[in-house]
Amino acid sequence: MPELPPLDHVRYLKEVLDLARQGQAAGSAPVGALLVDARGEVLVRGHNRVGQPQTPGRVGGASVAHAEMDVFFQVGHLEDPGSLTLYSSLEPCLMCGGASALLGIGRVVWATADPWGGSGRLLRWEDHPAMQQTHVVPIPDPELEREGARLFAPEARRAFPEEGWALWRARYPQETEGL
Ligand SMILES: [Zn+2]
Repeated sequence: MPELPPLDHVRYLKEVLDLARQGQAAGSAPVGALLVDARGEVLVRGHNRVGQPQTPGRVGGASVAHAEMDVFFQVGHLEDPGSLTLYSSLEPCLMCGGASALLGIGRVVWATADPWGGSGRLLRWEDHPAMQQTHVVPIPDPELEREGARLFAPEARRAFPEEGWALWRARYPQETEGL
């Protein structure tokens, strides 16, 4: 696995949390994502678009319109994907984690666990033969983890089945309290 440059995870996670709020304000789920190159330059920004219409330029209005897919569909062909880092406000689901591995993204970093929809519930990335090129950095900052949990908790309450919500309450008791 190639050596990836050190990046300021907190800086980019704060930005994806802002993108998540933009998605929420636009009527979609509060999840944001962006792609950063080896020099720390942001190549593309995206957010969940499930609640917004499909347009010629952007995926939308479908359950595949996750923040990470918004990023991948915008950016198209990737030069040297192994040098890139994907930041997401929430642990990627199986689709987005699978897409990251398929594209050969070098590193994936997320702010907050998703104990129901996150890929980690079904998959240990490092054990999967197709995901060996993707280095995973879950939850590097505890304060941003809590911020992301508070932001997504109402959506988890609304969208997930009772057993999914129970997992959220068990993982994030304070952030889900009263919802
Ligand atoms: Zn996803």
